[in-house]
Amino acid sequence: MSYGSDYPREDPRQGYPSSGQGPSIGRAIGMRFIPVLVMAAMAGLFLLQSCQRGPFGRNQVIAIGPEEEKALGLQAFQQVLSESNVISRGPTVEAVTRVARRLAEASNSEPFRQAIGLPPQQFEWDFRVVDSDQINAFCLPGGKVVVFTGILPVAQTEEGLATVVGHEIGHAIARHSAERMAQTKVVQMVQQGVAVSMSDMAPQQVQQVMGMLGVGSQVGILLPFSRNHESEADHIGILLMSAAGYDPHEASRFWIRMQEATSDQKRPPEFLSTHPNSERRAEDLEAWLPEAIPLYQASQKQPTGKPLPMAGGLGGAREEPLFPIRRPSRERSPFPK
Ligand SMILES: [Zn+2]
Repeated sequence: MSYGSDYPREDPRQGYPSSGQGPSIGRAIGMRFIPVLVMAAMAGLFLLQSCQRGPFGRNQVIAIGPEEEKALGLQAFQQVLSESNVISRGPTVEAVTRVARRLAEASNSEPFRQAIGLPPQQFEWDFRVVDSDQINAFCLPGGKVVVFTGILPVAQTEEGLATVVGHEIGHAIARHSAERMAQTKVVQMVQQGVAVSMSDMAPQQVQQVMGMLGVGSQVGILLPFSRNHESEADHIGILLMSAAGYDPHEASRFWIRMQEATSDQKRPPEFLSTHPNSERRAEDLEAWLPEAIPLYQASQKQPTGKPLPMAGGLGGAREEPLFPIRRPSRERSPFPK
């Protein structure tokens, strides 16, 4: 892709145009920044136009409508299901469906909506269990929840499962994937402005600067946003599980187990990671308990510590798969946890 430039280029081999005052370096530098400023102004306009009230009263930039977002969620859901070994019935499916349904119902309850500061949303819920050793679960936009059997030994109980599914539903309710799309768009707009401003430079130099800019925006802008999303999903998740009648004290216990279960997977330092570190996470979850406990007390509490059917070992008989595996599973969620 080539970028045009509206300002005259100067060929250093031929010297600067004679103005009687020698080379105007300041002017040349100033002109170089014009495309950056134009794209930054356009990005600013886009931010203003797409800004709306997000969870907990914060401002949120969203570039696509809920229907478009749902359609993308459905597309990803169908793709995951077509590539996975989906289990259709049995005690595991019943337990996962029971937990996910309670969370889904609580997600539109008045006390919960008031607590997160968002209006009710029209989700078309669907809950599926995938037979896989992968320690994962996710909720796609529009309410498509997928739980991998590999996470059940970590969840151990229905409260543990409610913690992770609550977190995933939190991402969907907060429309984090649509927000991430908007953030990426803004970063790309600014990068485009920089690319135009360097259109007279050698391709190698341009590549170097764009590479640095890419890493810079990843570490400086997109990753902090991702970490904020993770923290916000934790916050929404603990309130949601409480509103659904699951003991919020279980949340920090679950994330400790999760940390232990995934500790052998090489983990980058927090500033390069999309996830908050476990100490920070435990502190935050503790700090949100005063908000969560009243929701839990007002809910129809269920007995805590109910073990999941497959907890403590997955070597037993598998339930009947709904779809045969068409090709090897890529073992990857389209959305990060
Ligand atoms: Zn997450």
